[in-house]
Amino acid sequence: MNICVVGTGYVGLVTGAVFADLGNDVVCVDNQPDKIALLQAGRMPIYEPGLEEMVARNVADGRLAFTTDLTGAVRRSLIVFITVGTPPKADGQTDLSAVEAVAKEIGQAMEKYTVIVNKSTVPVGTGDFVREVIEQSQRSPVPFDVVSNPEFLREGSAIEDTLRPDRIVIGAPNQQVAMTLLELYAPLERPMIITDVPSAEMIKYASNAFLATKISFINAIANMCELAGADVSQVIKGVGLDARIGPAFLQAGLGYGGSCFPKDTESLVHTASSLGYDFKLLRAVIEVNRERAPHFVGKLEKALAPLDDKVIAVLGLAFKPNTDDMREAKSIEVITRLLELGARVRAYDPVAMPNARKILPAVVYCDSPYEAAAGADGLALVTEWNEFKFLNLERVRALMRRPVVFDGRNIWEPERMRRLGFEYHSIGRRPVSSS
Ligand code: NAD
Repeated sequence: MNICVVGTGYVGLVTGAVFADLGNDVVCVDNQPDKIALLQAGRMPIYEPGLEEMVARNVADGRLAFTTDLTGAVRRSLIVFITVGTPPKADGQTDLSAVEAVAKEIGQAMEKYTVIVNKSTVPVGTGDFVREVIEQSQRSPVPFDVVSNPEFLREGSAIEDTLRPDRIVIGAPNQQVAMTLLELYAPLERPMIITDVPSAEMIKYASNAFLATKISFINAIANMCELAGADVSQVIKGVGLDARIGPAFLQAGLGYGGSCFPKDTESLVHTASSLGYDFKLLRAVIEVNRERAPHFVGKLEKALAPLDDKVIAVLGLAFKPNTDDMREAKSIEVITRLLELGARVRAYDPVAMPNARKILPAVVYCDSPYEAAAGADGLALVTEWNEFKFLNLERVRALMRRPVVFDGRNIWEPERMRRLGFEYHSIGRRPVSSS
């Protein structure tokens, strides 16, 4: 099939590459000429495991191309995916300006029947909005359908998630267009669910809000464990083994960040309120998450007081492992607060440092976790990259001025850290010390 994907970010680029890999003819469009030039030169604007190879393979085979020419790309395509960003406005509402701009351009470009598929995360009701925008921008009436096909990929495993999603949700206004999408996705051989458009839009928000709720719930339990002297790791094991609950997303830590959960939970609260419903439960989830970084820095303040002029090594900057994405990363909150308190921060992240430099210029960026730890009065683990689990901790201890570790993701075992000679603080577990 001839496919056009508008917006070559994490979702669009991966979607385009995977559809090309399945044998479709794909053109990816972006309005950032620099990004398109980079892609045309075979370089990736983002870090995502396996992406560069997949893009190179499909470009070489002539199934994947990149352009800024939306009109040309739309005219040659049966299906046009919208995968542009939907960032939050100051009040939590979703900013649909990029979706609207693209819908207008699609309406102006269309010459024959086209299926417009909204893959961006958009509030319930946006399908109707996109349809109206396209209708109003058409020079003469051309038939089209607007489908909602929300995306569930996770950064860091985006290719794998797109090839093997738990489910494919197709919110279609009629059977015929649903069949077109079923045909496109059939080679993946994954469960598909066909719904109406608003239900598909709601499935995306309900899924993210539920996962965010699980995270905040276990973090609230971690807070209680700290007060009661219980161990949240043991609690998680016991709770997660209940088949009705499951262990996924039950990890106590610094809470959720990234480009999706924070904005999607805020957006759902906002949509609920505009529909006349006060989503108190989700407001509480957001509040618990907001307290995570200050709570964590509070541990550093208490153990190292005063923080003024103390050197803190921060390991991990990306909002989660295996990505260079710094959007709403907990490291930003933690480091900003540490700097406000007068601390000096030395940081290391395997891939996110170029992006972090633009947001946190006052940090000293290091070439390795060991360089970051050298001379530090405390070490804060913020993002649980796998390589940190296998650090030579004896070496880390020997390099630090004071061997005090604050583990924001519970990646190390307290007893082991005590034996290695650290004072060790983690989440929802008792602090331990070798002395
Ligand atoms: P992104 O910011 O990485 O990419 C968006 C791209 O759209 C950018 O390259 C931007 O230049 C381009 N763009 C913006 N306006 C444009 C226009 N008028 N014409 C052409 N291109 C334009 O965003 P993303 O992370 O890929 O997310 C895209 C959507 O998918 C969002 O709604 C997001 O909520 C949703 N989503 C994201 C993820 C994720 O993990 N990143 C997962 C599921 C869903």
